[in-house]
Amino acid sequence: MSVKGAQLHEGKSKQIFAVEGDDSHVIMHYKDDATAFNGVKKDTVVDKGEINAAINWHLMNHVSDVTGIPNHLVKALDSRNHLCHKLEIVPVEVVVRNIAAGSCCRRFGREEGEVLPFPMIEFFYKSDPLDDPPISAVHARAFGWAHDWEMAYFEFAAAKVNAAMVDFWSTLGVDLVDFKIEFGRTPEGHLLLADEISPDGCRLWEKGTKRKLDKDVFRRDLGDLSDTYRELYQRIFGHTLAEGSQA
Ligand code: UDP
Repeated sequence: MSVKGAQLHEGKSKQIFAVEGDDSHVIMHYKDDATAFNGVKKDTVVDKGEINAAINWHLMNHVSDVTGIPNHLVKALDSRNHLCHKLEIVPVEVVVRNIAAGSCCRRFGREEGEVLPFPMIEFFYKSDPLDDPPISAVHARAFGWAHDWEMAYFEFAAAKVNAAMVDFWSTLGVDLVDFKIEFGRTPEGHLLLADEISPDGCRLWEKGTKRKLDKDVFRRDLGDLSDTYRELYQRIFGHTLAEGSQA
């Protein structure tokens, strides 16, 4: 039995806890909080933590099964808490884009919705005070954030994860526009897919209509994010999550 110890970290949508008497694992707890614009916009979204925990558990394990890229998940303890390998998180966010949106349009003056000729893989330095600036392997090497081989692995792994994710969402009638992943190092220096793969870190558009099914609903006040995430849950699992069921 894994017993929650002290809180080690509180992020925008998750808390990380130590495990009593176990130095090699942590417990990841999913909150109902939603934030956007680097934490400037905040709200509580009913059942979001439970929905994201369920989607992340399913999607990350599916992606690992399909691609062979290992992840940090060990055990789902309950509907909001996952036991994970304790890692040193690499401060590099890896973003894959299939369709132009968000910062890709802002930085390069492109139209939202432009289908890219091939998946575009970008790196950002994970830093709230700096607003996650775009970087290349040169910066990661110079500033000691990641080795060259690690950056090469991130690119390789991100391409494989993208292919698996595009297929997964496509069968559910959803286009994967873009998403962000992170990696962490085990004490032995092995890289594992870390953090989460959930609608918080993806752009998802309904096929045909391009209706937004992701956190842009919250960012742009397009509707109730709780309803949107419930719809994704239903598409994935084929049944509804009863409101407030196990919170
Ligand atoms: N993303 C994320 N966390 C971040 C930055 C981006 O999960 O700190 C995700 C975001 O939800 C989107 C993708 O990465 O699915 C690309 O984000 P983008 O660079 O367009 O930035 P945004 O406009 O979303 O801030």
